[in-house]
This record gives sequence, C-alpha cells and structure tokens, in this order.
Amino acid sequence: MSAPPVSPMVLSFEDACRVVEEQAALIQASVQVMGTESVDLLSAAGRVLATPVVADRAIPPFPRSTRDGYAVRSADVSQLPATLDVIGEIKAGEKLEKIPANIGRGQAASIMTGAPVPAGADAVVMVEYTSQRGARVEITKSAVPGENIVPRGAEAREGALLLDRGFRLNEAAIALAASVAGSRLQVYQRPRVAVLTTGDEIVDVDATPGPTQIRNSNSYSLAAQIRRAGGEPVLLSVAPDELQGLRRLIAEGLNSDLLLLTGGVSMGRYDLVEQALSEMHAEFFFTGAKIQPGRPVVFGRCCAGKFGAGTPARDEPLTYFFGLPGNPVSTMVTFELFVRPLLEALAGQSPRKRPFLHARLKKEIRVKTGLRRFLPASLSGDFEQSEVELVAWQGSGDIAATARANCYIVIPPDRECMAAGEWVAVMMR
Ligand code: AMP
Ligand code: MG
Repeated sequence: MSAPPVSPMVLSFEDACRVVEEQAALIQASVQVMGTESVDLLSAAGRVLATPVVADRAIPPFPRSTRDGYAVRSADVSQLPATLDVIGEIKAGEKLEKIPANIGRGQAASIMTGAPVPAGADAVVMVEYTSQRGARVEITKSAVPGENIVPRGAEAREGALLLDRGFRLNEAAIALAASVAGSRLQVYQRPRVAVLTTGDEIVDVDATPGPTQIRNSNSYSLAAQIRRAGGEPVLLSVAPDELQGLRRLIAEGLNSDLLLLTGGVSMGRYDLVEQALSEMHAEFFFTGAKIQPGRPVVFGRCCAGKFGAGTPARDEPLTYFFGLPGNPVSTMVTFELFVRPLLEALAGQSPRKRPFLHARLKKEIRVKTGLRRFLPASLSGDFEQSEVELVAWQGSGDIAATARANCYIVIPPDRECMAAGEWVAVMMR
C-alpha cells in the first residue's frame, strides 16, 4: 500500500494561519457541531455556551444608587450650602412600600449603595459632603442630573442578548449569567482530542528509561494545552517508528474529534508520520511553516473509516489532524499557533484573534532572517516599566528553560537584530 511521497508544502506563518482559520470557519459554518450538556454555574468556567443568555429583567432592575449619601433633586443643591428635609432612609433591598413615593422640592432621602433611587430625585450626593442634624441635612456639594445613579436598564434592557452562543465563559460572563439565568447553563460538549506520540526512544513516564531512551513529556504538555483550550485529551499508546504500528494507532486516533501526533514529521529516515497518513489517503493542507521552533508542522484531514482499498467514500467523516514536531518546545508552540484556533472552532467557540502584547526588549537579540520566531522569554516589571528578555536555552528541546519562561518573544522573519529598548510582540502562554 505504498503511497507516493507527500510533496512539501511549506507556507509562510501568515499563510499557514490563514489555512487554519479557513478550516476553523468551515467547522463553525457546518451543521456538524458538538452535542450539548447542562452544567452548573460553579463548573462553567472555560465552557462554551450552546444557548444564548438573555436578560430576564432589566439590569439594573431599578435606578441604582452607586454611593452612600442622599438622594436629591439636583436643582435643590445648586446654591450651597443647601439644607433639605430628610423624608426617609432607603437601604439596599428596601421593601417598595418603605421607599418614599416622591422626593419633592426641598426634600432628600438618605440612601445606601445599591438601593433604588426614588422618583423625583435625579442625583445622589455622597455622604462625605453632607451632615445630618435631626430631620435636616446640610449639603455642601452640588450635583449634576444623573450623578451617582445608574438608570434602570442602562446595562441591559429586558430581553437583551447578553451572551451569544459560542461565548467561552470567563468569570465576568458567569457573573452575568448568574444575574439572569439561574444556576445551570447549556454548553457544548468538549471535543475529544487524541494524542499520539511517536518515537522508538520514547517511554511512558512511569517506566524506567534505558540509557538512550527518554520519557514522554509531549503527551502531558499537550493534555494541559488541550484542556486549557476547551478539549478533552485522550492519550493513545506511544507509536513506534514503524509504519504498521503507526497506521494502527493513527486509525484509532482518527475516531476522536481531532488527532494530534507528535514527532516523526521531520526529514529523518524514521520520520514516517506523513507517509503513514498519505497511505491512509490523508489530505494535507501544509507540511511546514516558516517558523522556529516548529518548522515541520503538518496540518490535514483524513477519513476515519476503512483504509487501504481505494479512496474514501464522499460521505465518510473527515477528522482533522496535526503532525507536531517532536521537540517539546516545538510541540508547545505549534499547538498555540495552529491547533488552538482549530480546537476552539471544534469546541463551538466563536472565532477570535489571538492577542499579542507589546513590551520593551531588555537585551539585544540577533537571529538569522527567513523564519518567524517564537522564542521562550521572561516578561517582568511593573505597569509602564515592563520588559521582556529571552531565557537562555539549548534550543527547542529545552523544557527546563521553557518552564522558566512565561511568554514567547515574536521576531519577524525579516529582522536580523532587535535592539535593546525596542518594542517587541509578545505571545503569552
Ligand atoms: P522528532 O520530531 O521525532 O524528530 O523528535 C525530535 C526530538 O524530540 C527528539 O529529540 C525526540 O526524542 C524528542 N521527542 C519526540 N517526542 C517526544 C516526546 N513525546 N516527549 C519528549 N521528547 C520527545
Ligand atoms: Mg522521532
């Protein structure tokens, strides 16, 4: 079943990103989305909304005082000091019948933060600018209409769409949902992401490695990244650098929603991942990107059905796969750059551009041109003084250096030298 060698398709970083984004958009547009499940608000963080969250009432539901003080008519405090009659006290949660029906001319009501501002009043003067003696209060600061009041419905009108389907829930979104939606939310099920590590030298973490063997770290870093990106990792056995065993495990992995392979995609004689996939009639979108680390990264899709006899039938489901270079830092970086956007789409999340920060470079960097580089770095310092510098490393196999880093400095492909003090793009991890 030997297949012709895969012709190399090495794209620029931008083109490779575009290809992934196009496929992510196709996933988002397709009817073939993940199933849904109901989750408690307490475990909803990071999940993707499958049903929109709509305001069941106005937010705020009443004109809300944002200060402790006195609800007044602003016209009454234009001449200072002003002395007003205190006709009531309104605390947060006050029963409606205890709230003065109207604040008339020359009147005020003592009011607390979060309490409803009564009719007639159009401003709240902070308690710091008042002194009450008996039933009268002296005001020493004027107020403009609306001051310290959030009008009813100003944050959201009743029936307004607060969070759309595809929104990945953070703590603010959970607070919003809690304020209108009860204790459960409908979210998409997490896509199952198969992780297939390849290499004759790789042993499981619990095994005692022989003198030339190394422990499998990639499956574990990938599992962490998959979870963070909203997927459910499924670790397969380590595949040997041999076609038959590799094909069997690839076939197993293609039954998941996404397959990630690590190792075996470079130019070595035993780098057999592309050949195995090609024999299984895979379609390749690219087989390399002009980046460092991670140049040999592969992206494609393959039919999860039967293999060997002819091309797959049209209606057989296709599973996306990535072949990530085996060097541990290459695996981590290529996940962040290419796998994450596709996985987010599979998870039902609406597309978003990855944010990059900018920081001043602490020390000069010199590199060769031609590749966009993502080099492990350390971002430190306060506020306007933040600075970033490369961590010393031994190349893309150096996990220890990368564990000390908290970000990556991004170096454009046409830059040979980045001077100290220059602003550089930073990709957070
Ligand atoms: P490869 O991409 O297969 O040529 O592997 C490149 C380098 O990454 C080699 O030094 C491998 O030993 C190492 N490597 C590959 N897979 C893993 C893994 N799962 N965990 C740790 N290191 C790995
Ligand atoms: Mg290998």
